[in-house]
Amino acid sequence: MSNRAHNFSAGPAVLPLEVIEELQHALPNYKNMGLGLMEMSHRSTAFDDIIESAKRRLRELLNIPNSYEVLLLQGGASLQFYMTALNLLGPKDTGAYINTGTWSTKAIKEAQRCAHVSTIWTPETTVFNNVPTDNDYTIPESATFLHYTSNNTIFGTQFQTTPVSNIPLVADFSSDIASAPINVSKHDVIYAGAQKNLGPSGVTAVILSPWAVERSVTVNKLRPVRPGGLPSMLNYKLMVDKNSMFNTPNTFGIFALDRMLAWLERQGGVPSIHTQNIEKANRIYSILDTSDFWVPHAQQDSRSLMNITWKIQNSKLEAVFLAEAEGEGLKGLKGHRSVGGLRASIYNACSLESVEALASFMQHFEQRHG
Ligand code: PMP
Repeated sequence: MSNRAHNFSAGPAVLPLEVIEELQHALPNYKNMGLGLMEMSHRSTAFDDIIESAKRRLRELLNIPNSYEVLLLQGGASLQFYMTALNLLGPKDTGAYINTGTWSTKAIKEAQRCAHVSTIWTPETTVFNNVPTDNDYTIPESATFLHYTSNNTIFGTQFQTTPVSNIPLVADFSSDIASAPINVSKHDVIYAGAQKNLGPSGVTAVILSPWAVERSVTVNKLRPVRPGGLPSMLNYKLMVDKNSMFNTPNTFGIFALDRMLAWLERQGGVPSIHTQNIEKANRIYSILDTSDFWVPHAQQDSRSLMNITWKIQNSKLEAVFLAEAEGEGLKGLKGHRSVGGLRASIYNACSLESVEALASFMQHFEQRHG
């Protein structure tokens, strides 16, 4: 498969070739059962083994406390924007939100559909090139939880430490889950779409503390506007009771997630992949920092290890950069339409070799056009 490109897509993102080959192998005849992976019941013992394995691996890799629940749902992180608020906030309750970019803004918008929102931090400009430190905001005592977006995929910023909070913490880890150790026990809800670090789109990992599960039971009773309680598909407690299989889950996606987690284990687990991720990101940031030819977007103390965003001083060169990169087999480097410029997404499965190829392309590009 030497013709695979160096893929810097923001998501769905590159998967390790060995994982793709395992998926390919499972499609026509899974474990010699005579039926393919996508053709068997989600109530079968074979699928039960798959979902239990995926959940166990996620627990071990992320060090999730035994008392926490792990769900593998559908609807993406976008549905979790609404589900977190719907399950944790009664109609009179308030969620406190840190707004660090497009995805936080969307989380706020969805939460406002069913509860009160207090946005406790937004950047001074609309550029979204930094994340706050704990001293930059005050958490209202009356708020039920504090929500933050751990990594801002579009702007290339990332929280460097877990925000300190004396109220439950809810976090969107869609673009950096399993890329660095997470202190799960400091959080009450963690959610993440799988399509960047954990596998294919269509599966969303949701990690719930005992408080979060209990809260969804309480809130269910608090919502008189909704006779009969929360809609089944949006009810955390029901999803826990049904082991994420109230309805037919994404069986293929959950298998792919399990294979991706097994690959992560073979890399030495999260601390080891984190070391690799630091090395990969430093390789590109060190080039961006060497001359004025490049203009990095994120402030130094807020830089993401997953999504590196930058511009070229002479913005006319950006189209040339993209065209030449494409010609060299370097794909997915265009910045998000809302920010422009360039972006390299270097999630867990983006190899050091791909990052080296990008680094060397950038150095040559600067020599030729600088
Ligand atoms: N949050 C973050 C940080 C994201 O990067 C994305 C997708 N790029 C989302 C939420 C939305 O995820 P989904 O498409 O799975 O709903």
